[in-house]
Amino acid sequence: MQKDSFAKFKTLLKSVKNIVIVTHYSPDGDAMGSSLALYHLLIQLNKTVKVVVPNAYPDFLHWLPANNKVLIFEKEGAKVAKVIHNADCIFTLDFNSFKRLEKLGDLLQTSEAPKILIDHHQQPEQYAKLYFHDVAACSTCELVFDLIVGLGQKKLINKKIAACLYTGLMTDTGSFRYPSVTAKTHLVIAELLKTGIIPNEIHSAIYDTYSANRLKLVGYALSEKMTILPNLSVAYFAITHTELSKFNYQKGDTEGLVNYPFGIKGIKVCAFFNEAPEGYIKISFRSKGKIDVNTFARKYFNGGGHINAAGGKSTLSLQETVKSFESLVVELF
Ligand code: 5GP
Ligand code: MN
Repeated sequence: MQKDSFAKFKTLLKSVKNIVIVTHYSPDGDAMGSSLALYHLLIQLNKTVKVVVPNAYPDFLHWLPANNKVLIFEKEGAKVAKVIHNADCIFTLDFNSFKRLEKLGDLLQTSEAPKILIDHHQQPEQYAKLYFHDVAACSTCELVFDLIVGLGQKKLINKKIAACLYTGLMTDTGSFRYPSVTAKTHLVIAELLKTGIIPNEIHSAIYDTYSANRLKLVGYALSEKMTILPNLSVAYFAITHTELSKFNYQKGDTEGLVNYPFGIKGIKVCAFFNEAPEGYIKISFRSKGKIDVNTFARKYFNGGGHINAAGGKSTLSLQETVKSFESLVVELF
C-alpha cells in the first residue's frame, strides 16, 4: 500500500488547470470507468480535462458518459502528443508501468508534467509525484471513489460518476464474486446506487451485448480448444488468428473466456493464449488462492497484474509459447 495524504492531492489539484487522464493498453471496464469517473469529477472542479487511451476499446464500453471525449492515441497521435505536451499534470489510472501504454509510454516518459498514480496492481514503478495505490482495492474505481471522498467532494458524485464507477467495480470483480470483494466494496456500491443508477441496466449494457459470432466463438473454444492438464489442475485455450477471424473477431470478444474452466471441479490455474493482431501472443492467466500468476507472468511472459489475474505477451509462435507454458507451469504449485 502506498497512499499519499489527501492534503497533498488537494494542494496539487489547486495548482493545475490542464489535466490529462491516461489508462492502459486495451482498456477494460475498470480502466474506462475509473478514467471517465475522474473526468466527470474534475470538470465539476472547473478543470480542463482530456482522457487519453493508447488504443481502441470494446463497443460494450461506448455507452459510458463522455465516451465521445476520449482520445485514442493510435487514431489521433498528433492531437494526443499536443494534449500531453500542454498538461499541467497527468493522472495514470489502472496501471503502474509505462510499458502498459505501449508506444504512448514514450510520450509520458518524456513529459515533465507531474504524474499521479491511481492503481491496484502489484509492484508499482516509481514515476509519480503522488500515489494512491492499494493492491487490496478490488478495482481502480474503488480507489477513485475513496479519493473523491477523501478530497471532501462526495457531494459531486452524480449519476454519471456513479455509472462509471459501478462499471469498473462490477467488471473487475467478475460481478462481485472474486476474492477481492469486501464489505467495503458493497458499501461503495450502496453509495453509488443512491444516485439513482440502475445496476441491472449497467449489467445488461456490458454483458448482454454479444454478437452471435461471439457466442459461437465461446462455444467453439469450450468444445474444441480447451486443454486440461489433469495432473496439474490447469486448463488453457490457445486460439490462432485464423480461428478468431472465422468468427469475425472484434475487440473484447474473448473477454472472460479464460475463467470458464474454473467451473470444472479442481481447476486452479487457467490460461488463454491468442495471436493478437499486433503480431505477438497475448496471454491471460488466472489462478485460485495463493497461486501467484503475477510473479509468474512477470518472470516468464513480460507481463504482470494481480496475484490471481495477470497478463503477458510472448514473441514466440503460439505453439512454442504453449509448450514453454506447459513446462513452466509446474513452478506455480
Ligand atoms: P487480462 O488477462 O484481463 O488482459 O488482464 C488481467 C490483469 O492483468 C489486468 O489487471 C491487467 O491490467 C493485467 N495485465 C494484462 N496484461 C498485462 C501485461 O502485459 N502486463 C502487465 N503488467 N499487466 C497486464
Ligand atoms: Mn483494474
